[in-house]
Amino acid sequence: MWRRVASFSPFISSTKSSTLSQLGPTLKIWESFTTGAPIPVNHGISSKDSTPFITFVLGGPGSGKGTQCAKIVDTFGFKHLSAGDLLRREIACNSESGSTILDTIKEGQIVPSEVTVRLIRREMELSNNHKFLIDGFPRSEENRIAFERIIGAEPNIVLFFDCPEEEMVKRVLNRNQGRVDDNIDTIKKRLKVFEALNLPVVNHYAKKGKLHKKSTCADLCSRSRR
Ligand code: UDP
Ligand code: MG
Repeated sequence: MWRRVASFSPFISSTKSSTLSQLGPTLKIWESFTTGAPIPVNHGISSKDSTPFITFVLGGPGSGKGTQCAKIVDTFGFKHLSAGDLLRREIACNSESGSTILDTIKEGQIVPSEVTVRLIRREMELSNNHKFLIDGFPRSEENRIAFERIIGAEPNIVLFFDCPEEEMVKRVLNRNQGRVDDNIDTIKKRLKVFEALNLPVVNHYAKKGKLHKKSTCADLCSRSRR
C-alpha cells in the first residue's frame, strides 16, 4: 500500500486489463492530475501552453521503476522519460558526452547533473504532452537542485519503489538486457550510491509531503507468507 495517499496495488498486478479497469476510481494519488494546484514555473519549459505536471519516479536498481512506469503510461498517458535510457542513447549515438557517460555508468556513479538535466529538458521541450514521468532521476541532492534551477520547477509528486536489496540484486542479474552495469560488481557500487545519494532525495520529498512510497517486494513477501 502507498504509505501516504492510496493503494497502488493494481500497478503490481501483472494483468493489464484488470489494471486498467481498477485504476481510475481507486487511485486517489492521481486525482491531483485534475484537482491539484500546479507548481508554479518561472522559466524554462514554462513558455509552453500548459504548466507541466511532473512526477519523479525513484527506487534502487531493479526496484521495478521501468515496469511500473510502462503501466502508468499505458493507463494515464504520461510522457515517460527514463534518465538512464536518455543517457544510454547518448552512448549509442556517440555523442560528445557519450564516452564520459559510459565510464560513469560502468562505475555505477552519477553522470554530471548538467548533462542529465539538459537531456531531460530537451525531451520535455520537444513533447506535446505536459504530464511527465521522470524515471530514475534525481539520483542525488545535486541532481535535484540542478533540475529545479535549470527547469525552474519542482515535481508535483514523487513515487518511490521500495525494494529489499536481495530482491533488487536478483532482478538485475536476471533481467538480461545486455547492460554494461548489470553485473554483480557494478550492482554493489550502484546500491552504495543509491543509499548514500539517492535516499537523501527520497527523504527530502518525504519531508515536503510529496512522497508516495510503495513496496515492490512482491516475490519475497509472498514467499515469507507461505
Ligand atoms: N544514471 C545517472 N543519472 C541519472 C540516471 C541514471 O547517472 O539520472 C546512470 C547511473 O550510473 C545509473 C545508470 O545510469 O547507475 C543506470 O540508471 P537506470 O535508471 O537506467 O537503472 P537502474 O539502476 O535504476 O536500474
Ligand atoms: Mg530503469
